[in-house]
Amino acid sequence: MHIATIVGARPQFIKAAAISRVLRQRHREVLVHTGQHYDVRMSAVFFQELNIPLPDINLEVGSASHGAQTGTMLAKIEAVLLDERPDWVLVYGDTNSTLSGALAAAKLHIPVAHVEAGLRSFNRAMPEEINRVLTDHVSNLLLCPSQTAVDNLAREGITQGVILVGDVRADVLRLAVDRADPEILRRLQVKPSSYALATVHRAENTDNSARLLNIYIDRSFSTADAGHFPCSSTYFPSNYNSWMETTGYVKLIEPVGYLDMVTLMRNARVILTDSGGVQKEAYWLGIPCVTLRDETEWIETVTFGWNVLVGTEPERIVAAANRPLPTTPRPTLYGDGFAAERCVAALERS
Ligand code: UDP
Repeated sequence: MHIATIVGARPQFIKAAAISRVLRQRHREVLVHTGQHYDVRMSAVFFQELNIPLPDINLEVGSASHGAQTGTMLAKIEAVLLDERPDWVLVYGDTNSTLSGALAAAKLHIPVAHVEAGLRSFNRAMPEEINRVLTDHVSNLLLCPSQTAVDNLAREGITQGVILVGDVRADVLRLAVDRADPEILRRLQVKPSSYALATVHRAENTDNSARLLNIYIDRSFSTADAGHFPCSSTYFPSNYNSWMETTGYVKLIEPVGYLDMVTLMRNARVILTDSGGVQKEAYWLGIPCVTLRDETEWIETVTFGWNVLVGTEPERIVAAANRPLPTTPRPTLYGDGFAAERCVAALERS
């Protein structure tokens, strides 16, 4: 089979690391990078560390408004697909690259496989939610990470081509855990379990300066200075540094590569995040998580007591970060770390 894979953003590179490896053992893949994330720290480092084949085509679309970015990608991906004539187009997750890839393919009657199908926050103000819903509705093969995702699709009338495969990020974490070394802890001069790790990137938080400031600066982390916060420092690997300042308790660091991120996550006392991937990684690594959102697509992590949804109210953030270590069980969620094999097998059967 000839597969055109469309990626463009950090979490998609991470997911592609799992599937491309398996796919290329048996099939021809052309990897198309839209250029949505182009900063070396958000893109190239993942290709190097995770041994992802270099993109065959880079569309270099870059940053723009949602409409302009999606439209430019749509036109450029269409041209690639006309040239390549793949048997399938493979898209990941919920970014503008996902939607443009799916739409370009659907209009050319090329079947679409969507990895991470069926996720819903039920918040249509999130650009990611629009991207997911529309992508799912033009996809032929819907590869779901959880039963909740399968049920969400059924409620929207999508039952054909839906397969529960588990989460490919579990595959990537499984392979990365042994390769992640503790060097970054020495570089940052932190001891295991002595710090909180925070990441914030969602538009609902970063586009709203009141929420941003609320999260980042005085009203939450540094007021935790009163001795209630369990951690000596809070680390933000972020590409939104221009918004923020390093204070005594908040240390801003550049975005880190995946292996360093794994080290930072597994040694944190608590993780605060608005990322979907980081919520699951915290769960898999057994680190308590505080989610800086009002809803989550990964509701099972909350059900089992390892994740708490707090929005961005400082008092709720601090209370959740200070909660005792969960004693609730942590059953296997989102698959066993072999989802990529199931995705490729599903493509082969379809
Ligand atoms: N991540 C990383 N370096 C960082 C911050 C995050 O490697 O500095 C990883 C993180 O472990 C997770 C992924 O990037 O696997 C999350 O990406 P992002 O938060 O951009 O997207 P989301 O998970 O919300 O789709």
